[in-house]
Amino acid sequence: MRSLFTEESVMGVSEESGRWESRIPYRRFFLFVLLIGLLLLFWGCAGTSTGTASKPFRTEHVVIVVIDGPRYSETWATTPGLIPFMSGTLKGRGAFFADFQNDAYTYTNSGHVAITTGVNQEIDNYGDELPANPSYFQQWLKATGKPATAAWLVMSKDKLHILANTQDSTWHNQFQPSVNCGVNGPGTGYRADSLTIVEATRILSQHKPNLMLINLMEPDGYAHAGNSAYYLRSISRSDTYVKQLWDYLNKSSFYKNKTTLLITNDHGRHLDGVDGGWMEHGDDCEGCRRISLLAIGPDFKKRTTVAAKHTLIDIPATISPLIGIKLEKGEGQVIREIFTKKALKQLDAGVKTVQ
Ligand SMILES: [Zn+2]
Ligand SMILES: [Zn+2]
Repeated sequence: MRSLFTEESVMGVSEESGRWESRIPYRRFFLFVLLIGLLLLFWGCAGTSTGTASKPFRTEHVVIVVIDGPRYSETWATTPGLIPFMSGTLKGRGAFFADFQNDAYTYTNSGHVAITTGVNQEIDNYGDELPANPSYFQQWLKATGKPATAAWLVMSKDKLHILANTQDSTWHNQFQPSVNCGVNGPGTGYRADSLTIVEATRILSQHKPNLMLINLMEPDGYAHAGNSAYYLRSISRSDTYVKQLWDYLNKSSFYKNKTTLLITNDHGRHLDGVDGGWMEHGDDCEGCRRISLLAIGPDFKKRTTVAAKHTLIDIPATISPLIGIKLEKGEGQVIREIFTKKALKQLDAGVKTVQ
């Protein structure tokens, strides 16, 4: 700016008579402003067409909590029961799904892979096989160019480190989120959920990530151990951990009113009388398939119950537009009915431009 005006003054004096000296600089200044305006307009349009620079939603962060393997009959079928916070306080702040399912492979790694990649995959359940497709974490990290510390997997089950990577050759070892799993990383065993929540809130405050996926394993772990008292207690504790997380998010100016929070499960457990009942899971019985989803966020309706059936692969499909990506190879559907009117308009406008 300084050099522009210096040049104008020199030209005004040397080339024109005195009456132009004050007018020419202003004309050029307005042309300059107009040019900048046009450039900004072009920049904005270009951003929209790439689909990643334009992010019209109020959501800036997405946190997903997966409570591993409680059965619907011990959670949402009998409220408030063991989950007074989620069924009492949280439910009215978002959308509750009355018919949410894992209708594919009802075990931990497969359920989580459906949530991160949008594809139901019959994957190894011991942590020895990577997902076939890239996750929304990888695709978002690539699209935004953000560092790995902007996206985190915080898992009680160490075997879930597999969610950070994929077998897909174009994405393998690329754009991986940060991982905090198990007692001390892959192969170190399961970590207590109380410690996982401590880690999750520490990471939220230390790194201010935009994306986080949390796994709470105790309902599944105590059920497999045949400890019914601890199985029930761990469901109740999960409700408390969700409250701790919710309280943290709402006290933080970085996250408050800008965070979409989803609480779901990877699978349920057998109905009583099916192959060991509540202690096991893994088939297509109604107990294994029926899970829950509570979706709360600034772009979602409040006090809404969704009656239509939805499944795990719809989760990444639904959050992808919110974080400005189009999920590669995802097979789920965007859950349109939970978007507010305003967000729905953005969704429809964005669908045409996101690549
Ligand atoms: Zn299990
Ligand atoms: Zn079953």
